[in-house]
Amino acid sequence: MSIKRKIIISSGLLLVTLAVWILVLIPKTGQILETIFLDVGQGDSILIKTPQNQSILIDGGPNNKVLEKLGKYIFSLPKKIDVVILTHPHADHVTGLIEVLKRYNVGLIVINGVYLKTDNYNQFLNAAKNNGAKVLIAEAGEAIHFGKDLEFDIIAAPGAGATNDNNANETSIVGKLIYKDFSIMFMGDAPAKIENKIMAYGEGLKSDILKIGHHGSKYSSFMNFLSAVAPKAGIIEVAEKNIYNLPSPAALSRFAMSGINIFETGKKGDIKILSDGFTASIFTEH
Ligand SMILES: [Zn+2]
Repeated sequence: MSIKRKIIISSGLLLVTLAVWILVLIPKTGQILETIFLDVGQGDSILIKTPQNQSILIDGGPNNKVLEKLGKYIFSLPKKIDVVILTHPHADHVTGLIEVLKRYNVGLIVINGVYLKTDNYNQFLNAAKNNGAKVLIAEAGEAIHFGKDLEFDIIAAPGAGATNDNNANETSIVGKLIYKDFSIMFMGDAPAKIENKIMAYGEGLKSDILKIGHHGSKYSSFMNFLSAVAPKAGIIEVAEKNIYNLPSPAALSRFAMSGINIFETGKKGDIKILSDGFTASIFTEH
């Protein structure tokens, strides 16, 4: 017997206040995966809360706005985050993590293993050392398991080495979060070169939700890759007004041609996806 996958897309429901959230959180199975794409300005930061109450933070955004967001969504005392993943060392992903590592007990920090010589990244590495968390260099093909039904598969990682500002995007950790029959692909800032490289995963790329690569720039999200992932919705982490004019019209037209519903943090605020492993709902702040 197979269970059909169904996704319900709804927006603007956050306006209906906390009561609705609580109702939504009373699941039939008691097992809800919560993924929140945080509106932190021009950068990436995503918080995942697992059905077993573990927390995963992917990137920390360009500033300390992430602290305010975490205060809103993480209630454990002492403050803890089980796993922090830094996709790559660019400032719009790493900066917020510096203060997060100073304030939260972290179990495991996953990095791409590529050194970028910047003040921000050096500060992050120092904060990681002082935090006392275990540090793991991601390797493609590895998976981090969170109980028997939830895992984070590492689809792409560069291996240890050095990088520079120009090619750091292509060192992004690409990962797929799989919860039963539901999945989200996280691209970091990976460009088309990496998309092409991971096309070898074939059917394994298929995901319900795609965290769009590189804030919707024209250098990512090529048609062949979008049709391989075939997501029902795409999330772009981007500031509403940004000097890069992201998301780019070229990428937006590819999403439209691929029939992918796009949600932008800059327009929608925090974007929350709840899933019981078979269905999912998207809620937006605005
Ligand atoms: Zn970025």
